[in-house]
Amino acid sequence: MQLIWYRNDLRTYDHTGLSQAVAKANELKQGIVAVFVFTQKQWQQQQMAEIKLALIKARVMRLQQELADLNIPLVVHNCDTYQQSAEWVADFCQTQQVSHCHITHDYELNETKRDEYLAQLLTNTCNASIQNCCEIIANHDNLIMPPGSVVKNDGEPYQVFTPFKKQWLRQLQNNLPNSHAKPKVQTDNQLTFDRFYYPYSVPSETLDQLKCWTDIEDDVINQLRGFCREQIQDYADKRDFPIAKCTSRLSPYFALGVLSPRQALNRIVLEHQEQVFSNDTGPGVWLSELIWREFYKHLTAYYPDISKGKSVKAQYQNIQWNTDRTVFDAWCNGQTGFPIVDAAMRQLNELGWMHNRLRMIVASFLIKDLHINWRWGEDYFMQKLIDGDYAANNGGWQWCASTGHDAAPYFRIFNPTTQGERFDAKGAFIKMYCPELKDIPEKWIHKPHEYAEKYRVAIDYPKPIVDHKNAREITLALYKG
Ligand code: FAD
Repeated sequence: MQLIWYRNDLRTYDHTGLSQAVAKANELKQGIVAVFVFTQKQWQQQQMAEIKLALIKARVMRLQQELADLNIPLVVHNCDTYQQSAEWVADFCQTQQVSHCHITHDYELNETKRDEYLAQLLTNTCNASIQNCCEIIANHDNLIMPPGSVVKNDGEPYQVFTPFKKQWLRQLQNNLPNSHAKPKVQTDNQLTFDRFYYPYSVPSETLDQLKCWTDIEDDVINQLRGFCREQIQDYADKRDFPIAKCTSRLSPYFALGVLSPRQALNRIVLEHQEQVFSNDTGPGVWLSELIWREFYKHLTAYYPDISKGKSVKAQYQNIQWNTDRTVFDAWCNGQTGFPIVDAAMRQLNELGWMHNRLRMIVASFLIKDLHINWRWGEDYFMQKLIDGDYAANNGGWQWCASTGHDAAPYFRIFNPTTQGERFDAKGAFIKMYCPELKDIPEKWIHKPHEYAEKYRVAIDYPKPIVDHKNAREITLALYKG
C-alpha cells in the first residue's frame, strides 16, 4: 500500500508525494491511502492560534471530500503529541503493510524530530521483519528551492538576504520547476476506511472569524489567479498601504500548504514572464516576498537554535527587557494611544491576520518603544495569526528586534506617528478599527489628543502610553549594553 501522511501540505494539486504515491500504486498494483493526525495539545504548546486550528480542521474535512472524489480515502486520527503521531503512523504502516510513506518536509525542530522518530520506528520494524519494511519518501514541496541547494561557494548558508536572493534567482532561471497536475480518479483503488472523526468543537466567535477565509482548494487557486491578473501590477507601489488591500492574503494557504510556492511561481511566470525577474515590477517584488519566505525556512533548517527561541545575534540574548504586563496588555488590546498601532492590533485580534507593514510597525513599537521582549510579541502573534508560521514569524520578529540574520540595525527605530502619517495618511485604515476616532479630522488623526486639547473636545481614547523620544534613547542604551 502507498501512504501519504498529510501535514502542512493540505492540497491535491502540485503535491509531489500524492503524484508519486499514485504512480507507484499503479506500477505496483497497490492501493493508496492518505492520513492526517491532529495533535492539538502539541500545537497549543507551540502557541497555535485557535483560528489557524479551525482552518486546519475545516481544510482537512474538505480535503477528505476532494480526495474521495479521486477515490483516495483520508483517514483522520487524533492524539496529543508529535511523538504519538509518529508512533500511530508507524503502527499504521505495519498493520496496513504500507511499502512507501510519502511526506513533505517541515523544517522546524519539533517537526524534524517527529520525522526522525518515524524513520527510526520504521527502521526497527524493518529490522525485525523484512516483509514489514516501509520506505519514507520525503519531498521539499513547501519550498521552491530546498535547504542546502542555495549556498555560498564554500558550501555555507547565506546569512544575508540580497546575495541569497541573487543566487536563488540565478539557479531558478536555469531550472524552472514544473507543477504536478492533480491526479486522475483512482478507479482501481479498492481501499475503504472509517469516516472522518471530527474531534473538537470550534468556538462560535472563531467560526465567525473563519468566514473571511476559504477551505476550498479551487477557491484558493482562483484567488491566486485573480491576484496575479488584477492586483499584482500595483503591488510594488501600493503594498505598504494597508487600506489599499493590494497584497495577496494568501499567507494562510501557504502556511497550511493549500497552495504550494511553486504554483505561485508558475502562475506569475505564466502571466508576467517579462517582469518576474525584474526588481522594480509588481511581479518581481512579489516574487521577492516569496524568496524571503524561503530565506527564513532555509535558516530555520540550518540553525536549530532558531526553533529554541534564541537570539541569532548572541550579544542581544540577555537584554534587560521591561516585564510590565499592563503595558504588554495595552499593546495586545490595541490601547496604546498610538492610532496606527492600535488599529493594527485590533485588525489582528478581529481578523487573525495583519498587513505586513503593520506587523513591522507594531513589532518595532513593542520592542523599541515599550522595551518588551520580542519573544512575548512573537508568541502573541502565533496565538492570534491564521497564517502563523514559525520561520516567517520568528524571522520577522528578529528582524524588527535587530537580533536576527540580516536584521534592521538596532538604531533603526520606527517613529509610530510618522509611520502612520506615511502609510495611512488620511487615517482611513485607523478609522476602520478605531471607531472612537471617527470624528477626528484627517490632519489630526495621528495625534488625536493634541487635537482634543487644542479644540477642547473630549475623546474616549487612551493617551499615548509612552514618550517616543525618551523611549528611543532607552532603546539605544539597552542595545549598547
Ligand atoms: P503578500 O504580500 O501577498 O506576500 C506573498 C507571500 O509571501 C505571503 O503570503 C507569505 O507567504 C510570503 N511573505 C511575504 N512577506 C514575507 C516576509 N516578510 N517573510 C516571510 N514570508 C513572507 N508571514 C507568515 O506567513 N506567517 C507569520 O507568522 C508571519 N509573521 C510575521 C511577523 C512579523 C513581525 C513580520 C514583520 C512579518 C511576518 N510575516 C509572517 C510576514 C508577512 O507579514 C506576511 O507573510 C504577509 O503579511 C502575509 O500577507 P499576504 O499573504 O497578503 O502577503
